Amino acid sequence: MGERLWKEECGVAAVLCRDRVTPAAPLAHLALYALQHRGQESAGIAASDGWRLRVHRDQGLVAQVFTPRTLRALDGWLAVGHVRYATMGSATLANAQPIVVPSPWGPLAVAHNGNLINAPALRCVLEGAGCVFASSTDTEVIAHLIARAPAATVLEAIRYAMQHLEGAFTVALLAGETIVGFRDRHGIRPLVLGGGPGFWMLASETCAFDHTGGEPLGEVDPGELVVCTADGARFLPVLEVPRRAHCVFEYIYFARPDTALFGRNVHRVRRRMGRVLAREHPAAADLVVPVPDSGSSAAMGYAEEAGLPLEIGLIKNRYIGRTFIESSPSVRQAGVQIKLNAVREVVRGRRVVLVDDSIVRGTTSARIVALLRRAGANQVHVRVSSPPIRFPCFYGIDTSSRGQLIAAALSVEEIRARLGADSLGYLSQAGLVEALELPAQVLCMACLDGQYPTRVPTEEEAGRAALERGALRRRAPAVTS
Ligand code: 5GP
Ligand code: SF4
Ligand code: MG
Repeated sequence: MGERLWKEECGVAAVLCRDRVTPAAPLAHLALYALQHRGQESAGIAASDGWRLRVHRDQGLVAQVFTPRTLRALDGWLAVGHVRYATMGSATLANAQPIVVPSPWGPLAVAHNGNLINAPALRCVLEGAGCVFASSTDTEVIAHLIARAPAATVLEAIRYAMQHLEGAFTVALLAGETIVGFRDRHGIRPLVLGGGPGFWMLASETCAFDHTGGEPLGEVDPGELVVCTADGARFLPVLEVPRRAHCVFEYIYFARPDTALFGRNVHRVRRRMGRVLAREHPAAADLVVPVPDSGSSAAMGYAEEAGLPLEIGLIKNRYIGRTFIESSPSVRQAGVQIKLNAVREVVRGRRVVLVDDSIVRGTTSARIVALLRRAGANQVHVRVSSPPIRFPCFYGIDTSSRGQLIAAALSVEEIRARLGADSLGYLSQAGLVEALELPAQVLCMACLDGQYPTRVPTEEEAGRAALERGALRRRAPAVTS
C-alpha cells in the first residue's frame, strides 16, 4: 500500500542564484523535499559555479541522501536536482540522477522526468559513435545526444536533441552558466518556471516554489525551451505542437494536492472528481471513508455531494518505508496490515463508501476491502475517482505490469467480485473531463481509452527496460544491485 506501481515518474528542479555567489544547492535541496512524492528511490543534486561541477547522488529519500556536509560540498550558484522512482530491477546507483556527461561546452548535468519511446534506437546510434553508457536510463541517452549533437552552441545542441527525442520528456539541465528546461511537444509531464528573491527556479510542480520562498511564473509550454542566466530568462519555442496531451494522472494521483497545474489546484480538481463520482455512482450508505492519502480529496467531494459524513476509517502509518515492506516474503505478504489499519469504532456495523483515486492491479483495493470487513463493516461500496485503466502507459508505466492491469482483462462486475466489494463504481471519462474543466483535446488519457498522442512504440521498444538492464549488466557488473 502506497508502494508505487508506475515506473519512471520523477521530479526535477533547477536553481540559478542571480548574484552568482549564493549557493544554489540548498534551494534545490528544499525543492526536492517538496517533490519527494514523485520519487522515493534515489535523489541527487549537481552544483556548479559555471566552471567546476560536482554531483552527489544516492539511493534513498532526500533526507537520507543529503547531510549538511554533502550539501556544503555542493558549492556554486547553479544547481540541478532529481528524485527518482524506479522498479526494483533498475533501482541502481548508476541510474540515480542527475546524469553528468562531458560535452564540448563543459560538463552537462541532466535531470529527466518521462519516458522516451525511441531510446533504444538513439542509444544504438550513439553506441555506434563510440558512446559508453554507464546506466540504463533514458536520461543518459538525452545527455549524450546533446553532448554529441552537430551544433556550435549548447542551445543549438539542445534544440537538435529535442527534435530527435520521441515520447515524454521534461528535462532540467545545467550547462555552463545557465540552467535550462524543456518539454516534449505534447507537454505530457509538467514543468514550471518561477523565481524568488535573487534566484530562478525550474521545478516539476508549483509546491516546490512554496517551500523555497519563490513564486511560480508560469508553465514551460509544450515544445518550449527555457534558458535562465544571471541576466534573465528566455522562452524559445522549438517544436511544433500538434496537440497538447497533459497526463490526467498528474491530476488523479501523481501531483501533490497543494500544487496547481494549468492554474488549477490539484486538491480542488480531485474534490470535483469526487462530486461527479457521487452523482454517477450514488450508494445507499452511512459514511464515506477515504483511502489515505491519495483518496482524501475525492472522498471529501463525494461526501459533500452525497450528503454523507466523511469519516477517518483508515489510518496510515507514514513511517514505513519501502525497504521494510520488502525486507522478507512474510513481511511483504502482510503488506496492507502494516501500513493501514481500520478504525473499528467508525466502521463496525456501518455501510461504508470507500473512495480511492485509482485501481491499477487491484491488490491493494482487495486488501483494504477485506480489512474493513474484518473490522466489522456491514457493506463496502468501492468508488474510484478515475476511469478503469485498460491500456499501457508508454510515458511512465512499467511495461512489465501491463498484464497486471486488472481492468485490461476484467469487466467492472468481475473486478467487483475480485475485490469482494458490495458494489463498485468508476468515474466515467466524460465525468473526469467535466471535473478537470479542461477540453478533452488537451489531455492524455491513453491508458483509459487507448488514444495515444504519439506513435505506439513497437514491441521491442516497449520491452526495452529488460533489454537495457541486460545491456547494463554486461557492461558494468559492479553497479547493478
Ligand atoms: P491497487 O488496488 O491497484 O493494487 O492499488 C491502487 C492504489 O495504488 C491506489 O490507492 C493508488 O493511489 C496507489 N498507487 C500507487 N502507485 C501508483 C501509481 O503509480 N499510479 C496510480 N494510478 N496509482 C498508484
Ligand atoms: Fe498519463 Fe495515462 Fe497518458 Fe500515461 S497514458 S501519460 S498515465 S494519461
Ligand atoms: Mg492510494
